[in-house]
Amino acid sequence: MADYRVPLKDMGFLLFDVFKAEAMWQQLPTLAERVDRETAEAILQECAKIAEQEIAPISRQGDEVGVSFNDGKVTTAPGYKEAFKTYAEGGWTALGGDPEYGGMGMPKMLTAQHEEMLCSGDISFALYPVLTAGAALSLAKHGSEELKNLYLTRMYSGEWSASMCLTESHAGSDLGIIRTKAIPQEDGSYSITGNKIFITGGEHDLTENIIHLVLAKLPDAPAGPKGISLFLVPKFHVNNDGSLGERNQVHCGSIEHKMGIHASATCVMNFDGAKGYLIGDLNRGLACMFTMMNFERIGVGIQGLSAASRSYQNALEYAKERLQGRALTGAKNTDKEADSIMVHGDVRRMLLNMKAMNEGSRALSTYIAMQLDYATYGEGELQAKGDALSTLMTPLAKAFFTDLGFENTVTGQQIFGGHGFIREWGQEQLVRDARITQIYEGTNGIQAMDLLARKVVGSQGKLMQVFIDEVNDYIKATPAENMQEFIAPLADALNDFSELTQYLLTKSKENINEIGAAANDYLHVFGYTAMAFVWAKMAEVALEKQGSDDFYQAKIKTARYYFTRLLPRRLSLIASAKSGSDTLFDIDDELF
Ligand SMILES: Cc1cc2nc3c(=O)[nH]c(=O)nc-3n(C[C@H](O)[C@H](O)[C@H](O)COP(=O)(O)OP(=O)(O)OC[C@H]3O[C@@H](n4cnc5c(N)ncnc54)[C@H](O)[C@@H]3O)c2cc1C
Repeated sequence: MADYRVPLKDMGFLLFDVFKAEAMWQQLPTLAERVDRETAEAILQECAKIAEQEIAPISRQGDEVGVSFNDGKVTTAPGYKEAFKTYAEGGWTALGGDPEYGGMGMPKMLTAQHEEMLCSGDISFALYPVLTAGAALSLAKHGSEELKNLYLTRMYSGEWSASMCLTESHAGSDLGIIRTKAIPQEDGSYSITGNKIFITGGEHDLTENIIHLVLAKLPDAPAGPKGISLFLVPKFHVNNDGSLGERNQVHCGSIEHKMGIHASATCVMNFDGAKGYLIGDLNRGLACMFTMMNFERIGVGIQGLSAASRSYQNALEYAKERLQGRALTGAKNTDKEADSIMVHGDVRRMLLNMKAMNEGSRALSTYIAMQLDYATYGEGELQAKGDALSTLMTPLAKAFFTDLGFENTVTGQQIFGGHGFIREWGQEQLVRDARITQIYEGTNGIQAMDLLARKVVGSQGKLMQVFIDEVNDYIKATPAENMQEFIAPLADALNDFSELTQYLLTKSKENINEIGAAANDYLHVFGYTAMAFVWAKMAEVALEKQGSDDFYQAKIKTARYYFTRLLPRRLSLIASAKSGSDTLFDIDDELF
């Protein structure tokens, strides 16, 4: 496998040229105090070193050795403990954390790029700190002062990690039917009993304590999602001075053997009257957990991109070296027995598909992260718009980037021919590791329903109008002649998308099944349209700067490729979305 190289230039281009992060940070007083361009660049460069030199090199070993389970203990693959120690000692576990408790408080625009590097290095490794950061976010937002003081600092320091315990064997997408019970105790704590499955990082040897965030129900709680509460359950009790006490009654029963992310421990967790502490209000657990899940969902989207980005780097290096066949127009490399496969149109198609989708996903994820920063640190209209756009685009980031990410790991594998199928080159690991990103943190089907049912139909189109206005404003403000090749198809795509939204709003009133039938296609039409928006923005900056560097030429040419070869995918998706639900429900279950 090619050595991983962090696409630092692309990341800097997005942050500072396309999305003008410096101006944005200056506009938001909290961020102005914490970060400037110099700090941000230093952070990204240092993080790139860790990802390239410490994390990427252990990934193959992690895949081959995996995690092992013995008598309740989980041991990580060789190299993981050392890499985690280096990572934590470098302060990286504190990057996005609340400064009041020892975090660095960096904006999501930066932490999102940091997550991409980490996951391109190794998704399995990244899951341990990324889940901890998500749990810390939920605790920082909803936890009591007492809990925050006792737990947050050590989660930020990397001494303790965290897990997210939602899923039960009978309750995955439908969390409303969980059975884990929380019984109130006289001292104000709760006794938690139940079994959770598929818990990432539920048990391992990287940190001295593991803080589980657990969904459970009180005996008299209302049925369904409105009766769920969130509890903090430490593996080891924590004394008032922060030292570790006795073992809590929570244990790992077994670990799963699975298709990919072998170095990530996926655990069955048994809670047998474990002592837990309420986070947030009773019966408001799902809302508290959503703070973490929204953060994680963008992160999972970025995992899809990160695997695809690595796949592209490998495939490109291979394609340049691999000699097979001759160019249709005549031999290019006459002193060799064959030309490199780069001469073949189909190989160029595959490489450009990957390049255009990866760079588009990176741009869109940076844009969504920017909206999250406005939502967190902005005020007034800026804050409201950031909130609307990030809410709307969270399911998009999760599902669209992971669907494209998986497609692109497979495309990279295809470029290797048979050499992509065998272990030697490492391409098949990327395919296996990327696959889970479409499933966990709410399947992509659930994301599509969240977008169309809850966010679009649920707001009667108002939330989506915020996006449509945003892109329309950009189109109107960009009349330059040399941008028309991008602006005209963007305007067409936006019109069609806006029309599709109205069509589905009307149709769903006539027949509710139209929502489920159209949701997946709708999400992808939204994705290709939003990606066209950020590709136009990238092309605009590249046109201004062209001549100074080949990087900008490559951007303009890749933008052209996106608009002519990938954006048209939306047309078949629109046709499918409009085809209605009859063909899905006409066929009786027995006829399947
Ligand atoms: C490796 C791994 C790591 C994981 N890590 C964690 C973790 O750390 N913490 C945790 O709590 N969980 C974790 N999970 C669980 C994961 O989030 C769930 O597997 C996932 O949410 C789907 O739930 P399920 O497997 O029960 O599938 P189901 O909910 O049974 O879904 C089956 C199928 O039905 C579809 N479906 C279900 N309901 C609907 C609906 N209403 N509308 C449309 N389609 C629907 C789904 O999209 C899917 O295709 C992990 C899973 C794996 C495999």
